[in-house]
Amino acid sequence: MKRNTWQREAVRTALGAAEGFVSAQGLHSNLHATGSPIGLATVYRALADLALEGEADSLQSPEGEGLYRACSTTDHHHHLICRNCGLTVEIEADAVETWAKNVAAENGFTQAAHVVDVFGLCAACTAAAPAVSPPAAPPAPVLE
Ligand SMILES: [Zn+2]
Ligand SMILES: [Zn+2]
Ligand SMILES: [Zn+2]
Repeated sequence: MKRNTWQREAVRTALGAAEGFVSAQGLHSNLHATGSPIGLATVYRALADLALEGEADSLQSPEGEGLYRACSTTDHHHHLICRNCGLTVEIEADAVETWAKNVAAENGFTQAAHVVDVFGLCAACTAAAPAVSPPAAPPAPVLE
């Protein structure tokens, strides 16, 4: 069932206005600051719906908190997400589309859908991370 209530519109708008990823609580306090009487539980539900329908990117913070961000498109797409700073790059993955369709068909599945997001460290975070030094070379054999 598709709920298109004012609460949901308010959450969608607030999400679009937020910089980067926000938690449900963060978004709730943003909405309250603008005088919206929306409840926290409603914000949680609306965010979950938006994420399910592909209108919001969602990820778990290292503390296990759900974070959300407005997607730039509702067309089917995938994400590259930096697990350190939350930078998200929206990507197309033709190879994944073909593979998913084929593997579903081979197993007699119809109406197959998939969610594929790739987590890693973005270029900036990789550059800022302390360099991992390669393991020390074993001592050269001493030739007698
Ligand atoms: Zn997206
Ligand atoms: Zn990063
Ligand atoms: Zn896909």
